[in-house]
Amino acid sequence: MEHLRLEKYRWDAENCCGCKGCIWVDPVYVRGKAWAVRCPSLLRFRFDSYSALGRLKLAVGLMDGEIQLTDTALDIIYKCNLCGACDVGCKRNLDLEPLLALEALRILAVEQGTGPPRALTQIAENIAATGNRYGIDPRGRSEWIPQSEKAKAEAPVAFFAGCNISYKNPALAECAISLLDALDVAYCLFPEESCCGHPFTVAGMAHSAIDVAKTNIAKLAQTGATTILTICAECYKTWKVDYPKLLGKGTSEMGYEVMHIVELLWQLLRHGDFMARRPLRLRVAYHDPCNLGRLSEAWVHWSGTRGPCGITKPPKYYRRGDKGIYQEPRMLISMISGIDLKEFPRARENALCCGAGGGVLEAYPDFGMFTARQRLQEAAAMGVEAIVSACPYCRDMLSSAARVSNPSIKVYDIVELMSASLLDKELPS
Ligand code: SF4
Ligand code: SF4
Repeated sequence: MEHLRLEKYRWDAENCCGCKGCIWVDPVYVRGKAWAVRCPSLLRFRFDSYSALGRLKLAVGLMDGEIQLTDTALDIIYKCNLCGACDVGCKRNLDLEPLLALEALRILAVEQGTGPPRALTQIAENIAATGNRYGIDPRGRSEWIPQSEKAKAEAPVAFFAGCNISYKNPALAECAISLLDALDVAYCLFPEESCCGHPFTVAGMAHSAIDVAKTNIAKLAQTGATTILTICAECYKTWKVDYPKLLGKGTSEMGYEVMHIVELLWQLLRHGDFMARRPLRLRVAYHDPCNLGRLSEAWVHWSGTRGPCGITKPPKYYRRGDKGIYQEPRMLISMISGIDLKEFPRARENALCCGAGGGVLEAYPDFGMFTARQRLQEAAAMGVEAIVSACPYCRDMLSSAARVSNPSIKVYDIVELMSASLLDKELPS
């Protein structure tokens, strides 16, 4: 837990040089200023305090006792998607850890009794009462399981649906299960599934997140499965990155690995044995979910000291966001006959968050909608008919905004596209 505390990132915060790499996408990738800002919070609030550099100055002030955790400070700390775009930009030039410092600010706010915002406390109460973030009767959690499913009692792969899929988007689980069945994947369902704990992590409630991590890892061990399979990018990142970060050890040490369904599908389909049955004539752009892209790079635990000029002993590996899951979803979409796949100007590790991340969807829905509309404008400027993503939260956030501001742009999850094409199913209207 010590490695999560703000004081651990004092050097990083004090050595922010104000270069604003955390705000702008490099001009190599984006021409002009229309799509050049990478930080949703800065885009919305138009003040440096609402960017990584402002938050690092705030962190120094708090550690030195020159600033208190006032309502304004909390506003700055929580009106951030924890999307990691700043971290990628900063690390192009420097070995600093802005994102870990932003997360540590929230842990500090919780420990001092001032955070998180009420909407995130409510989610925590829902999880404590029902095991899911929505506070819905948990007896309905598995109602999405189709009668024909071929799940086994024991298998090397355990399917973890997550709260959103189980309660809000069961159709995505049905698509995924149909694909697994059609491809003869041996899988079991995660037993007595409850929340992965992601809401605790983004709220800064590290102790609760640690408890959930331990419980879920113990449940997985009971199944005998060694791979967790998800279709939710948030669950994926939680199992792959947050559990190791919270517990200070890698997934292999804890006896499991994590796969998103796009990784599994690409592994199974890359040799072309299973052919798409229905062409889809659509011009689409793939939206990289933060939690499947730059935030999903495996956690490498480091413990040591920083000396003069920031030299670390022992040497430290920096997660720079370039090893996320970027290629597999693009290859899968490209396999579908008739599809015209376009790239957003802000793509891969430079992708703009959909607006939902970091608890913003629940705590500051207007801010979330603002960012989603920005993304839709980017899509509209490219002339695409649909956005495809690989996370139910991105799908929900972008479709809510599309209904209001760009109704001609459809939003799909990649499992909907794959099951429409491979299994000849209808795309949702
Ligand atoms: S956080 Fe990093 S990129 Fe941003 S201003 Fe500071 S040093 Fe530059
Ligand atoms: S995590 Fe995202 S929203 Fe927060 S400061 Fe960084 S880029 Fe901005």
